[in-house]
Amino acid sequence: MAKKRTQFCVECRKETMYRIQHVSLKKCIKNKEYTFIVSEAVCENCEEPVNIPGLMDSNAKEVDRQYRLKEGIVSVEDIYKLMEVYKIGKAPLSLALGFGEITITRYLAGQVPSKEYSDIIRKALESSSFMMGKLNENMDKIGETAYRKAMNAAKEVEPIFALSEKMLLTISYIFKKAEEITPLALQKMLYFIQGIYMALFGAELFREECEAWAHGPVFKDVYEVFKNFKYNPIDDIRFAMFQNRFNELSDNEKKVIDLVVDSFGMYSGKVLEQITHGEAPWLDARENCLPGERSNEVIPKESIKSYFLEVATKYDISNADGIRKYIDSRLQTI
Ligand SMILES: [Zn+2]
Repeated sequence: MAKKRTQFCVECRKETMYRIQHVSLKKCIKNKEYTFIVSEAVCENCEEPVNIPGLMDSNAKEVDRQYRLKEGIVSVEDIYKLMEVYKIGKAPLSLALGFGEITITRYLAGQVPSKEYSDIIRKALESSSFMMGKLNENMDKIGETAYRKAMNAAKEVEPIFALSEKMLLTISYIFKKAEEITPLALQKMLYFIQGIYMALFGAELFREECEAWAHGPVFKDVYEVFKNFKYNPIDDIRFAMFQNRFNELSDNEKKVIDLVVDSFGMYSGKVLEQITHGEAPWLDARENCLPGERSNEVIPKESIKSYFLEVATKYDISNADGIRKYIDSRLQTI
């Protein structure tokens, strides 16, 4: 793992090989002692530290990152995300949150926010109603145009906050993997992900219940978020909330999403809908419905789980080939 390169060593007075190693660094910040892990370059010849261009910079960044992590303080990226989600500039954001006009500008330049201000920023990121409250509170300071723009953006993202964290992460990863996806295809994908995850690992991936709508299983809260796209691919800047969050998923969770996107992903939402129309969980939940009739009947998770457990006895759903065989068998019945 140690990369070997050469650098001039002042002790040896010549170019020598060096290695990078991790060392701990004790540092006192605001009267509190911290231990950070930083990188150090060491001469392979004399074991003395050598000076590598850029290493000090990257260590400073690393200390900043670890400090924010230890203290639960928002990152610069979080602040940019906040501006993107609520379509608001630095100065009006600063004023809306009740800070001084240039506070956010200073944070973006690298100054570390106090815990108190950081918590306010995080709350705004985690709740649109909190943000709307702040906007209303400081409406006079930020000006009408900025206020209206941010208010509209806050209303637009509101439904996203009804989603569970796992659902958000799952959708984030699907967006990352799938080139283009319609709300209908996304719904069906989520259904298969939940079903296959439950069959393989025994527990639900996300807590949301899905309902047996006329067009197949639908997660209502997810429907609310994307309904404006109708039959078009989802594409919107406000989904900054979904960007690059998928790293927080476990390997098993990612594995199942990979499996589903790599197998079901090649079919249109309409075909996926037809597949679900032939499966017990949706059929059972619509026992008392006419075809095409509106229904909000919940498809019990147990029903989905036992269906996919049964599928798992015939097909190896722990790999994409097995799932493709299952899909082929289903397509023949459509
Ligand atoms: Zn040396």
